Amino acid sequence: CQLQKLKGVIEDCCCDYEMVDTINKELLHPVLQELVKKPFFRYFKVKLWCDCPFWPDDGMCHLRDCSVCECPESEFPETFKCQPKRLSVEDPKCQEGKPEAAVDRTVDHKVLNGWAEVDNPWTYDDETDNEQMTYVNLLLNPEKYTGYTGPSARKIWKAIYEENCLKDGQNDSCTERRVLYKLISGLHTSISAHVAADYLLDEPSNYWGPNISLFYERVLKFPERVQNLFFTYLFVLRAVTKAADFLSQADYSTGNAIEDNETCSLIVQIVMNKRLQKACPVPFNEAQLSCGADGVQLKNQMQQHFHNISALMDCVGCEKCRLWGKLQILGLGTALKILFSVDVHDSHTHPLDLQHNEVIALINLLSRLSESLQYVHMMAPLVDFL
Ligand code: FAD
Repeated sequence: CQLQKLKGVIEDCCCDYEMVDTINKELLHPVLQELVKKPFFRYFKVKLWCDCPFWPDDGMCHLRDCSVCECPESEFPETFKCQPKRLSVEDPKCQEGKPEAAVDRTVDHKVLNGWAEVDNPWTYDDETDNEQMTYVNLLLNPEKYTGYTGPSARKIWKAIYEENCLKDGQNDSCTERRVLYKLISGLHTSISAHVAADYLLDEPSNYWGPNISLFYERVLKFPERVQNLFFTYLFVLRAVTKAADFLSQADYSTGNAIEDNETCSLIVQIVMNKRLQKACPVPFNEAQLSCGADGVQLKNQMQQHFHNISALMDCVGCEKCRLWGKLQILGLGTALKILFSVDVHDSHTHPLDLQHNEVIALINLLSRLSESLQYVHMMAPLVDFL
């Protein structure tokens, strides 16, 4: 009933809700689901051990001891494998100790090939390989309920919305600030959707499934949150299609010719999809991202805010949440980098240069958002039966 308010053209975008729902369901979601399973897209390089730059005494950010083992499991005999410590569910400081919050670092090194490493100007992490970096197989670590909740989680979201001047973002008259607020809120909706869609319904029997009432309480009850999810999806989709030339020519080789050819063909199905181009030619018009004469200054401010948001990911006190938080923030940072780059088609003066990890984050983010739209589509009719 609430969602019936979502009709017509999505605010600040160029396509309407019904059309986006259809193109996602019929064109993009099935292709993205396949694409993120491919070797190139399933390994993400990330620094998971945090050093929270904002608050030292939270107790959530120095949890090496209550977390998972760093060892690639395949390298160790069964008896040597370190098990994540089982900690009390009641212990609010050690949510990382929960098995569902732990990251499995099993890696197939054959798929890693050398792309250049250059830091994304919008995000905090540096991409340089060092002992703190690990490759994580995303398929073994799906984004779902982890038990991370309470004051620590709320503090991060509060810091993201308030300490970065996004307090009244929804109603901000400046497009840049409004866009930044909507991107974060849309991502927040997507995370909530994944938490509710894959939930530990019964702990003793380890029974997982969708928690429809939670999905309603956190997502469907708030049409503006769903609206922001649609917005974020279109924003990222625009970045992906704007980078079509780069993405369709990039090197996806991982040593498995059959898989790698399929990866290229799936990418082309997304970035050069005629039906998509006809249905929603410009999902988001980035030309509106210049708030009058102060355009450059505002872009710099926006970049600084986003950089701070990215740094906050190191304060997230649950390893798996931090993994997906970092990936999706890098994905958004990459979308911002693409849409703020002057003219990607003018490859002589402004060649678009995306890094291995940026491309992985961008496509996985689009896949997460696409899946969240599917959840909205599937769960909304079920709410009547609650
Ligand atoms: P929260 O989701 O913590 O929201 C806090 C407040 O923000 C709400 O009270 C509301 O006022 C406002 N708010 C909520 N949604 C929106 C929105 N879409 N737009 C604008 N405002 C909003 N938990 C997991 O189980 N698995 C994960 O993978 C996971 N990943 C996370 C990643 C990050 C980066 C962070 C910060 C948290 C993550 N969490 C994860 C925790 C999860 O997001 C919630 O914080 C937690 O489930 C507690 O939810 P809550 O109901 O208290 O509200």
